[in-house]
Amino acid sequence: MKSEIPFIKPSFPSPTDFAKDVEQIVKANWYTNSGPIERMFSSELRDYLGQDLQVATFANGTLALLAAIHSAVGSGDRSKFLMMPSFTFVAVPQAAIWNGYLPYFVDIDPSTWQMDSGTAREIIRSARDQIAGVILPNAFGVGNPAIAEWNEISDEFELPVVIDSAAGLGSRYADGLLLGGRGHCEIFSFHSTKPFGIGEGGALVSANAEVVDQAYEFQNFGFDKSRMSRTLGLNGKLSEIHAAIGRRQLTGLASRIEHRKVTFQRYAAAFRTYDLGFQTNAVNSSHFCANIAVPSAEHKTRVLQMLATERVQARDYYNPPLHIHPYFRKHYPSMNRSDLGVTESLCSRIISLPVHDHMDTVDIERIISAVLDGLS
Ligand SMILES: *Cc1c(COP(=O)(O)O)cnc(C)c1O
Repeated sequence: MKSEIPFIKPSFPSPTDFAKDVEQIVKANWYTNSGPIERMFSSELRDYLGQDLQVATFANGTLALLAAIHSAVGSGDRSKFLMMPSFTFVAVPQAAIWNGYLPYFVDIDPSTWQMDSGTAREIIRSARDQIAGVILPNAFGVGNPAIAEWNEISDEFELPVVIDSAAGLGSRYADGLLLGGRGHCEIFSFHSTKPFGIGEGGALVSANAEVVDQAYEFQNFGFDKSRMSRTLGLNGKLSEIHAAIGRRQLTGLASRIEHRKVTFQRYAAAFRTYDLGFQTNAVNSSHFCANIAVPSAEHKTRVLQMLATERVQARDYYNPPLHIHPYFRKHYPSMNRSDLGVTESLCSRIISLPVHDHMDTVDIERIISAVLDGLS
């Protein structure tokens, strides 16, 4: 029987290297709370991102997102909305709700699959006083081609925009700059499922040093430098062990992304003559996975069946979209959203194919022929 091709296949530091790090940590007897390795890791991340950006590390991406919203809009009393797409990961509305805001789901653009800035503008015009801000995810870690428009919206309506670039460390905007420097701040997740994975971890990134200082206070119980708790905080610190993995993962990240790009381009070339949509600017991403939109829901069923028969793990992110999940249906009913027709159409047709750091050519060809068989 053919071996199964997993959807995600993290590549981690070798046990030998990892053992060296553990030895160093035990010798220093320092495990968390701004340890020497966390300090080095955050400074290396800063060097990697360049653009004079500042970095605060976190225990995971969700806590970084909580900190980002707290910094951009403060705590709400559940009377105001944060705009966000329904086509994203569930941590996005959850982070809004934990900060005391209501999610307002906005439809996506059919070719970029990112929150539609035109629709958002209309909603803001008609209800500016009810909206506290925007959480703009870079869908699948792909830099939003309309990022400049969001900047204009933010300026015009004086609305903070927090950018969730969870899966996008190493991805680039259409202008060639790495994700990290836009909006009030951007956050990343270092969960093992993302192209840059360390187990559990995350970061908040901004050009504004004050925002990053605030983020460090937030992830350390709101303590200021004299250990007085001055703002609402929590424990969101990154441990030394995870920081050590992070330092190892950062070396070679660029070359791993190049390998992922080769896989993505092989898919793109094989599907070029078919009527399959790829997300705009996906080519400049770190390739969390490779998403295609097939012509119909029937095609999707057939392709997924064919992939399963060929023992290929595929997914259909982000299906079901968030407004369909029971919790949001119950507490945030249909009035808290615009029409979500594009979201629902894309969800019925999307297929997410595996991309690994070092993917076997034979595996790629097996995946491609299963997709083409399903389409025929
Ligand atoms: C993965 C992800 C998160 C959550 O990050 P964690 O590190 O798992 O907490 C948040 N938002 C988006 C869009 C994600 O893909």
